[in-house]
Amino acid sequence: ADSGVEGKTFVIGTDTTFAPFEFRENGELTGIDMDLVRAIGEAEGFKVEIRSLGFNAALQALTSNQVDGVIAGMSITDERKQVYDFSEPYFESGIQMAVAKNDDTIKGYEDLKGKTVVAKTGSEGEAYAKSIAGQYGFTVKSLDQSATMYESVKSGSAVAVFDDYPVLAYGVAQNNGLKTVTDKVPGGSYGFAVNKGKNTALLAAFNDGLAKLKADGDYQKILDKYLANPT
Ligand code: GLN
Repeated sequence: ADSGVEGKTFVIGTDTTFAPFEFRENGELTGIDMDLVRAIGEAEGFKVEIRSLGFNAALQALTSNQVDGVIAGMSITDERKQVYDFSEPYFESGIQMAVAKNDDTIKGYEDLKGKTVVAKTGSEGEAYAKSIAGQYGFTVKSLDQSATMYESVKSGSAVAVFDDYPVLAYGVAQNNGLKTVTDKVPGGSYGFAVNKGKNTALLAAFNDGLAKLKADGDYQKILDKYLANPT
């Protein structure tokens, strides 16, 4: 049967740096999301053209049909389900707060009174930070990239960052100058997204390919490649 995707090329939007899901190594885009969508394309007979746009820009590009799909460590949330269609979840995630490694003054949300924290524009981390900002009396500054957020915390222009815990854990393990200080807040799992009602064949092919990669062990191999031996 014709799957509707064979031989086609799909334009896929992603975040700039969100290691281990997407980041550059020797100039090449790599990471779990990149390996996953490329392997699914191979299994299903379609090609992908990746656009490293930034998280919020990728979501906007999807809304305006400038890309066919987004894979960007993007959490499946009820709010987003109103405007996008999601694949089956492929990775569990949620939010955590991190501070500079040498900061011993911020140990929890109650230490944030009168301070500024950073989070990514349009992200679950931003939504979570804003949801508790009034209660704890802190200000949320939104930035477009994780790298800039981490720099702000290290330079002291913000005291903490709210980001996804798998991404924070990966960075901390690589000695990125941060440490996590609060419990994980469970959030939505990651999914591949298409615009609502569009690219239904691509979405079906993603799910079919994901199931194949899980069944033959390649999905686990991709995870292990990035997560098994943190260096
Ligand atoms: N998982 C988070 C979200 O979907 C953050 C994604 C990202 O920063 N790339 O909001």
